[in-house]
Amino acid sequence: MPEGDVVHLTARRLGLALDGRVLTRSDFRVPAYATADLTGRAVLETHSRGKHLLTRIEGGLTVHTHLRMEGSWRISRPGQGTPPGDVVRLLLANEEWQATGVRLGMVDLLPTRQEARVVGHLGPDLLGADWDPGEAVRRLSAAPETTIGEALLDQRNLAGIGTIYRAETLFLARLWPWTPVGAVDDLEKVVEIAQRLLHVNRERPNRVTTGDTRPGRNTWVYGRAGRACLRCGNRISRGEMGQKPQERLIIWCRRCQPERGTG
Ligand SMILES: [Zn+2]
Repeated sequence: MPEGDVVHLTARRLGLALDGRVLTRSDFRVPAYATADLTGRAVLETHSRGKHLLTRIEGGLTVHTHLRMEGSWRISRPGQGTPPGDVVRLLLANEEWQATGVRLGMVDLLPTRQEARVVGHLGPDLLGADWDPGEAVRRLSAAPETTIGEALLDQRNLAGIGTIYRAETLFLARLWPWTPVGAVDDLEKVVEIAQRLLHVNRERPNRVTTGDTRPGRNTWVYGRAGRACLRCGNRISRGEMGQKPQERLIIWCRRCQPERGTG
C-alpha cells in the first residue's frame, strides 16, 4: 500500500519525466475520460498532496491520480511495452519519456482551479511545503473519542500516513493503538514522529524507521508480527483496526505499547 513517502517519490519521478515537456500522447483508459486528449499541451508541474498526485497541464487542467491499494506509475522510453492485461488506466508520453499509470485507484481530469474538489478535504500534508503540525493536532483533537490508530489514518486530519507509518509512529510514541485521542498526553510528539519518519524516507526506495537498514531490522513492528520486539524481546502482535469493511492491519508490541491502566 503506497503511503505519503512513496507518493512523494512518485511525484518526483513523474515530474522529472513530464514537467516542462509537451505531451505527444495521452490515453485515458477510464470511461469518464475516454475521449480526452491532452496531446500538444505541456505538463507544467507534478505535485503530491498526501497520497494524491496532481499533474498540472497547460491550459488550466489537472490530472488527478491516486495509487490506492496497488497502483503505480511506471516511467519508460516511449513505445516501450506496457503491462499485459487490462491494468493500464492512463498513459502520458512526450518525445523522451512515457509514464504509464497501472491499476490507479482514481483518475480524474479537472480544471486546476477546482483541485479542491479532489484534495480540499485533506488535512495538512506531512511532506508538503506548507506542513502545519499545529493544524494537524487541532484536527486530531476535534474528535477525542476516536482511537489514535484510526485518527492517524484519517487523511482529513493529516495527509500521508498509511498502515506502515501508523504502526511505526505508535510504537515510537509508545501508544496502545486503541487509546482515545483525548487520552493521548502529547499529540504534538505523535505528529512530530510521523512527520520525521516520512521525511527521512521521502527519497528512499526502502523504508527505514529504526536507523538500521538490515532486512528484518529496518522497521520496529511493521512486517515483524510474531517476531521478537527489537526493543523488549516480546512477541509482536498483529490485529485489525476500524469498522468493517474498512478495517486495516495494525501491528504493535503489547509490552512497549501497553493498554492504558494495565501497563
Ligand atoms: Zn516491545
